[in-house]
Amino acid sequence: MNLKLAIQKSGRLHEDSIKLLNDCGIAVKSSGSHLRTVADNFPLEVYFLRDDDIPQYVEDGVAHIGIVGENVLYEKEKKAAIIEALGFGKCRLSIAVKKTDEYGTAHFLQGKKIATSYPVLTQKFLNENKIDAEIHEISGSVELAPGIGLADAVCDLVSSGSTLFMNGLREVQTILKSQAVLVQHDSLGEDLLKIVGQLLFRIRAVKRAKNTKYVLLNAPNDALQKIISLLPGMKSPTVLPLADSGWSSVHSVLNEDEFWEKIEALRDAGAQGILVVPIEKMIV
Ligand code: ATP
Ligand code: MG
Repeated sequence: MNLKLAIQKSGRLHEDSIKLLNDCGIAVKSSGSHLRTVADNFPLEVYFLRDDDIPQYVEDGVAHIGIVGENVLYEKEKKAAIIEALGFGKCRLSIAVKKTDEYGTAHFLQGKKIATSYPVLTQKFLNENKIDAEIHEISGSVELAPGIGLADAVCDLVSSGSTLFMNGLREVQTILKSQAVLVQHDSLGEDLLKIVGQLLFRIRAVKRAKNTKYVLLNAPNDALQKIISLLPGMKSPTVLPLADSGWSSVHSVLNEDEFWEKIEALRDAGAQGILVVPIEKMIV
């Protein structure tokens, strides 16, 4: 039995979705003109779809699991449970107004016209802020709308903000932070759940490795205690004597988010010859 996974056919999430599977040791190729493909070495069948359709496929169980942006998942209001955040496709859904407008609070939007591809999430935001505004739904090039007199404001996806800027707009309020997530159909049989579990195990090992670096350094023995206290390691750091007496080699792992801070502290404590190596998989 194959687990059926829906991913975006082409667009911002496609490459990263394929890369994640490949990093998990699952051989699937980019879609090309194919609408589905079967992995060579894992019980997985991949459907290539428009991202808008993925929540529905997963709700219906036509696809057992799917990779989709939270923004699309929440906009579609389908039943599909998030089982893992994937850390790519990060963006935010934001309100933007003309550069010259004074925004202040959400009340700026009262009685105005907002262009968006996300009418459900936009309306929810307006309701929460008790604002009456007209939503103008368009499916693309939303950021053009204020410039051509179609709307006063937009509610659109932003990552760097450069598209907004180029169109004379200014981001004023984030209404949702989003990333790609793995979603699952409501009721899967035991056999399928087992394959989901195997896939999740691999995804977590890949994610953990991505956030972690392997560090090797040389430490004078009299600074060893201090240096070890700076390094958490998976259990505790590995310490090996160097040929040069009075020195040891210390091996450990570091989290990406505390990385630079720790490296500086290690140098200050007397560590030398610090090597930092990427980790491919990390099983705990
Ligand atoms: P499809 O043809 O599948 O409907 P699309 O044009 O709707 O594609 P893309 O532009 O490829 O969608 O974006 C897919 C997802 O990538 C978005 O729903 C969002 O979750 C994520 N994303 C990340 N950064 C951005 C960004 N700057 N702008 C738009 N989407 C982004
Ligand atoms: Mg889409």
